[in-house]
Amino acid sequence: MKRAVKSDLKSLILSELQEQLRNLGEPSYRAGQITDWLYKKRVDTIDEMTNLPQPLRKRLSETFSLGKIDAIRVLGARDTTMKFLFRLADGNLIESVLIPASPASRDYGSGRSDRRTICVSTQVGCAYGCKFCASGLEGFSRNLSANEIVDQLIAVERATGETIDNIVFMGMGEPLANLENVLQAIRIINAEWGLGIGARHITISTSGLAPQIRKLAEERLQIRLAVSLHGATDEVRNRIMPINRRYNIETLLSACDYYKARKKQRLSFEYILIADVNDSDDQARLLSRHAHRLSAKVNLIPYNSVSGLPWTRPSEKRQEKFLSILRGDGIPVTLRREKGHDIDAACGQLRLQTEREALAGG
Ligand code: SF4
Repeated sequence: MKRAVKSDLKSLILSELQEQLRNLGEPSYRAGQITDWLYKKRVDTIDEMTNLPQPLRKRLSETFSLGKIDAIRVLGARDTTMKFLFRLADGNLIESVLIPASPASRDYGSGRSDRRTICVSTQVGCAYGCKFCASGLEGFSRNLSANEIVDQLIAVERATGETIDNIVFMGMGEPLANLENVLQAIRIINAEWGLGIGARHITISTSGLAPQIRKLAEERLQIRLAVSLHGATDEVRNRIMPINRRYNIETLLSACDYYKARKKQRLSFEYILIADVNDSDDQARLLSRHAHRLSAKVNLIPYNSVSGLPWTRPSEKRQEKFLSILRGDGIPVTLRREKGHDIDAACGQLRLQTEREALAGG
């Protein structure tokens, strides 16, 4: 017989929690006490919620689970990018990355940098197989639940003692393929009773799931959207991102038109520069045209080698030329120069490496 799976307390928004408490014959203000324990005091067990009557704590424990994720590996130093590898309750591995916005601007006296961004995972593995990405190499296992997404922030804050004020859904997995759980996690992350991060500090990245972009456009939350373009023509994008064969550039851009019209928000294009694949002047000019159409910002990211994949990064001269074409057209554009900020190209690498080591060792 199949065992009923308990839902996790950190998968519920306040109104759902209130309803659950009413069903248990409890006053709904208890829901606020519970979210306070979960997101402000950050307890690990229901038993630690000491202002709840003992019988209620017992009933809650019988009805809900309360998960926790632990970092099994941490790479990097506090003043640079830090990668966290987490083991989930079912043994699966996921990664999160903490990025100081500008390491140079960090004030060591107070221990604060100007902005701390976390890049979170939304799935175990990924089904989309972008050719520059380690996450797709071993296929898709499952979606993360809302609480497993929220827990990445809580665990990283706990491990570093830092407060996160920006979140990007750019880690392992395609966020829009797990839209329901991602949106639920965002509601918790965004709420005052939750983690209290403003919607404008939350960015969802997508490889180009056009129908889901249209769905996201209907959401009330003013979250930001980053589209991984990585090629300005179908011919080039097909080589890099298999999703383009399902939703080609025009289909993707018209979904972006729709998003922009509904949201009145600037979206951004992520573009990994790969030598002799997508870094020609022609690609730059066409990318500029797409960005102009959507008033989009462009983030250029020089490719980082992924072991087992063939491509290389363009010379600095080529990167600068590509940048100058966009700049010349008046497109707001950045070129990532720092080393270590390799999350887009290298998401999933730490997990892959750990799994391979485990296989080799066992
Ligand atoms: S870049 Fe994103 S969508 Fe593409 S394979 Fe990697 S995780 Fe999946």
